Amino acid sequence: MPSDKLRVFTRYLPFLLKYGLKFLYQRLQATVHRRTYCSLPSPQTVLVIGGSFTGVWLARRLTESLPSGYKVILIEKNSHFNYLFNFPRYSVLQGHEQQAFIPYQGLFENAPEGIFEQITDEVICVREGDVELRSGKCIQYAYLVIATGATQSPPAKLLASRKGEACAELRVLQTRIKEAERIAVVGGGAVGVQLSADVKSFYPDKKVVLIHSRGQLLSNFGVRLHEYVVGKLAALGVDVLLGERPATPGDGKWESAELILKDGRSELFDLVIPSTGQTPNTSIIAGFAPSSISAQTGRILVKSTLQLEGDGKFDEVFENIFALGDVAETGGPKMASAGMMQGEIVRENILALIRGEQLAEYTPLALEGALKLRLGKDECVMYIQEDDGTDFMFPGKNGNVDLEAAKAWKMFGAVFEEEANE
Ligand SMILES: Cc1cc2nc3c(=O)[nH]c(=O)nc-3n(C[C@H](O)[C@H](O)[C@H](O)COP(=O)(O)OP(=O)(O)OC[C@H]3O[C@@H](n4cnc5c(N)ncnc54)[C@H](O)[C@@H]3O)c2cc1C
Repeated sequence: MPSDKLRVFTRYLPFLLKYGLKFLYQRLQATVHRRTYCSLPSPQTVLVIGGSFTGVWLARRLTESLPSGYKVILIEKNSHFNYLFNFPRYSVLQGHEQQAFIPYQGLFENAPEGIFEQITDEVICVREGDVELRSGKCIQYAYLVIATGATQSPPAKLLASRKGEACAELRVLQTRIKEAERIAVVGGGAVGVQLSADVKSFYPDKKVVLIHSRGQLLSNFGVRLHEYVVGKLAALGVDVLLGERPATPGDGKWESAELILKDGRSELFDLVIPSTGQTPNTSIIAGFAPSSISAQTGRILVKSTLQLEGDGKFDEVFENIFALGDVAETGGPKMASAGMMQGEIVRENILALIRGEQLAEYTPLALEGALKLRLGKDECVMYIQEDDGTDFMFPGKNGNVDLEAAKAWKMFGAVFEEEANE
């Protein structure tokens, strides 16, 4: 049987060629746009709420394509871009936490003058035509994009929104891990797996147990990944307990606790790190569009054009409102790559509405669900699964110990701060 690398290459070659050409065309268009965009008085606003992977990508692409007379405003509550792929590593490894918080400024440096504005604030409610911020200000919009993602218990996402406090949050966990001898990570999703593997590979003498409620780790992915990961965790010395759902001290609480297992046995841990569950951030539309929030998943319901799904009453109002990324029920995977692909559809559709053209529809691609999972200090694995269950898996090696943070900063146009400088 051909290797997974060969299979994935032949399977996705046409897509990669098409995407490569599209990317070159986009760069060309962006250069022309930079020279032709004129900043006019009182432009209409495309308002993007949420400046993580999905919102930032979309805002950046809008600054490369909105016509004169329009501008984009990005509202994000965090002072810095939270590079959360590295949070599990910086929860264990000391002295690198500042590298997970990247300044936003460099990202929009090349945008045409007057096309972009960023506001560091929290939207507390959406209304027809405007949004209200925690500071009390109101911002009007012609088009609104909701990319507010989901809340997860720390360290998957952090509670603090300013860099200094967020670094302090990670340092608390680093210290607790360093001081504990017996550690339980509860929740065998991507964060729980990476965290337990990192703790054991940086501190091989500690006892580390990963506890998961189902029979399969990383339950959203295929069994082959589960089997590979279980093998790697065993080789590192992490104990894995499946089908167990012990009560924990609670989200974001990193404490010592006695965990009671199904058979009545109890185990005392110096430190329990809960790593379960996601809550979509939809409260901002709870008053304005309650019927657009799914009763099953709590996510925002959208049409295939990624416009808000209404109950018929507000259809015209909802035409100019989009939701995408982890907060929305798009049919795509809850992954950064999917959010970026959806961003391209939303961008095209905002331009189509401005020009009175036909709207594009989002169809998820298996590649958008590609996962890169770190398995301790040295190893990682890439995994892609298609709808029919076919999957591709490539084990690999991690780069440097801080997981190539400098590359991420470069992508954001920021000057890398290796040392703490808050
Ligand atoms: C450890 C880890 C590893 C991962 N690995 C991968 C991977 O290999 N590949 C991949 O594609 N994906 C990966 N993911 C998943 C990926 O990170 C998420 O799918 C992605 O972050 C979703 O982006 P988002 O912008 O939709 O939402 P989020 O990242 O949740 O961001 C939402 C943003 O909105 C802001 N916000 C929320 N409410 C408001 C408000 N009211 N006002 C202002 N701002 C607000 C938040 O502060 C936040 O910045 C990983 C995730 C983790 C935790």
